[in-house]
Amino acid sequence: LRKDGKPIAVLIAISPIKSSGGEIVGAISILKDISEKQQHEQERRYVLSGARCLLWYADIREANEAHLWWYLNFPDEEAARRFLPLEIHAGETFTHAWYRSRLPDDRKSSDVTGHGSVRDNKSYEQEFRCVCADGSIRWLHEDVHLEIIEPGKRWLAVGVCTDVTARVHSEEALRESERRLRAALHAGNMGVWEWDIRTNAVSRSEETERLLGLIPGTFEATYDAYDRMVHPEDREAQHAALAYSIASGRPYQHEMRIVAPDGGIRWLQDTGGVVYDDHGQAVRMLGTVTDITERKRLEQQFLQSQKMEGIGRLAGGIAHDFNNLLSVILGYAEMVQMELNEDSDLLPNVQNIQSAATRAAKLTAQLLAFARKQVSEARVIRLNDLIVGMNSILKPLIREDIALIAKLAPDAGRVKADPAQMEQVIVNLIVNARDAMPHGGKILIETANVTLADHPLREQTTVVPGEYLLMAISDTGVGMTTKIKDRLFEPFFTTKGVGKGTGLGLATVYGIVKQSGGYILVYSEPGIGTTMKIYLPQVAEAESDRHEAPRAQIDLRGSETVLVVEDEPLVRELTAITLRRNGYTVMEAENGVLALAAAAGYPRDIHLLVTDAIMPEMGGKKLADALSEVRPGTRVLYVSGYTEEVTSIQGILPVGVAFLQKPFSANGLLKKVREVLDAKQA
Ligand code: ADP
Ligand code: MG
Repeated sequence: LRKDGKPIAVLIAISPIKSSGGEIVGAISILKDISEKQQHEQERRYVLSGARCLLWYADIREANEAHLWWYLNFPDEEAARRFLPLEIHAGETFTHAWYRSRLPDDRKSSDVTGHGSVRDNKSYEQEFRCVCADGSIRWLHEDVHLEIIEPGKRWLAVGVCTDVTARVHSEEALRESERRLRAALHAGNMGVWEWDIRTNAVSRSEETERLLGLIPGTFEATYDAYDRMVHPEDREAQHAALAYSIASGRPYQHEMRIVAPDGGIRWLQDTGGVVYDDHGQAVRMLGTVTDITERKRLEQQFLQSQKMEGIGRLAGGIAHDFNNLLSVILGYAEMVQMELNEDSDLLPNVQNIQSAATRAAKLTAQLLAFARKQVSEARVIRLNDLIVGMNSILKPLIREDIALIAKLAPDAGRVKADPAQMEQVIVNLIVNARDAMPHGGKILIETANVTLADHPLREQTTVVPGEYLLMAISDTGVGMTTKIKDRLFEPFFTTKGVGKGTGLGLATVYGIVKQSGGYILVYSEPGIGTTMKIYLPQVAEAESDRHEAPRAQIDLRGSETVLVVEDEPLVRELTAITLRRNGYTVMEAENGVLALAAAAGYPRDIHLLVTDAIMPEMGGKKLADALSEVRPGTRVLYVSGYTEEVTSIQGILPVGVAFLQKPFSANGLLKKVREVLDAKQA
């Protein structure tokens, strides 16, 4: 204790004083105040135990080529034990436990790192896991500073270990959430991008690279490189969207096409927003891209089918009125012709009127087919038989330099279709194939059974699942560009010169296939050829009887009573006149209600009802049914009315009823009337 009562630490050294004879004669004692040193020691302990780290130092010596001795020590082992509460086995030192507690994998890797770095005379850092006495696992970060004492032989090392468990766990959690985000973006076909406006650098997620069709790592990460990928036609709109967003601070959403490095075009929806700095300067844009190619394709398909529907309605509407007029023109021309003498100068004129009107009627019929308003006499048929039977029709159509090959599946199923219409389909397709091969080639007709599940036909939005018969007609001709393919089925679309093509061939095919509940697909590449695939629903019913009653030469005149019901006055009048002139008694009515009233007031038999199939208020079928209640013996002949509603004519008129198609000639009408009247009663 010093005089002022403060304790001090003193080091006392005593050494003897000897005489020349070796006798101890005295002693020298030196007292040294070491208070300060002790304080340093205390401070050191305080620092070591308070620092949230573990310190070690090691003297490292080479044992041999493969081994190093590490003489490892802890400047304050107490502090080290507190910092890292390891389990220490009996007889074990902390140094040993320090090494043993590492997870086996980490022990191996830390050995390799430590050994390698020392051999390379390099300081190093590493991370590893230790198991503590309570079983918990701690992540340690070890920063090792190395000093070379004797190159290749001896080193000194100081290690500082910090506990980074919390950081590693949060990193893991972050990685996990990133992984989840990536999976979600991948599932949503959504890529993320970021554009640093000041440096022009663009960074993007893996998904973005995939969406853009980039090979990872091959893309220059700049805005300009990205911009070059945007389809030239969409670039301006894209720039405008970005500029608007930067100026307004509002996010933007924009649809655009990009041209992938492989040349493929994809539709992307690009969404983004701007980040500003403190001075209101736009510094970054962030956003996502989503692949909407499929949606776009469906949209375009929808528009296409809307367009076809619209054109069909227009064409059908015109054809309907036109057809009625043609009936009248043909009818009166025929009457004039009958009244003229064989040697009349006017006869050729009338015949010209007739032939022109007949040609017009054929065109109209094609338009009606396209508009799906042609009356179809659907029967259960085998397409194979039909194709084989057409051989003699098809042969003259194609030239000698074209080979026609048929590959028909022997088990090909039955379909329900109008055979005459199906023949028309095949002829139109074969003629197109021929025209596509001016220098010769091959035409292949195939049939096969196919099952369409929900399998989307490429061009169709919806498919009714089921068994279908596929008929494919392929050629090795010039093929088609996408532009042509898009308009193929439009009526009057033709690439053939004036007077060569009508542009009605495929329009008719389209209408017939649709009317039969089928689908048609086009596969065509310029220079390679074309395949038209037609899918028709198969039916289980047996084939309809193909043998028609032999057509005897029949007298066209008659004396029966006929009730003519037709809302179109000109047509009704013409029908009535034609029948009267040929001996029939004719009653006329302009609609079903009046027809029933007339029939009720008529005292004698009515042998035949000739009625328009579709009329306002009461349709032909309804009228016939009502009439048969009171007059079961009356036979019925339907004249097809080409109004809008006729699309569903198959639903309105049962299969197998007597039909007469407008426009009809006087002869056609008389023949059909006799046929119906003379048919054996069922
Ligand atoms: P048209 O034959 O009177 O021109 P279509 O409706 O039959 O009318 O065909 C329309 C157009 O479709 C044709 O002018 C032609 O350009 C194209 N086309 C049709 N079939 C083929 C084919 N097999 N190969 C190449 N082009 C075809
Ligand atoms: Mg054609």
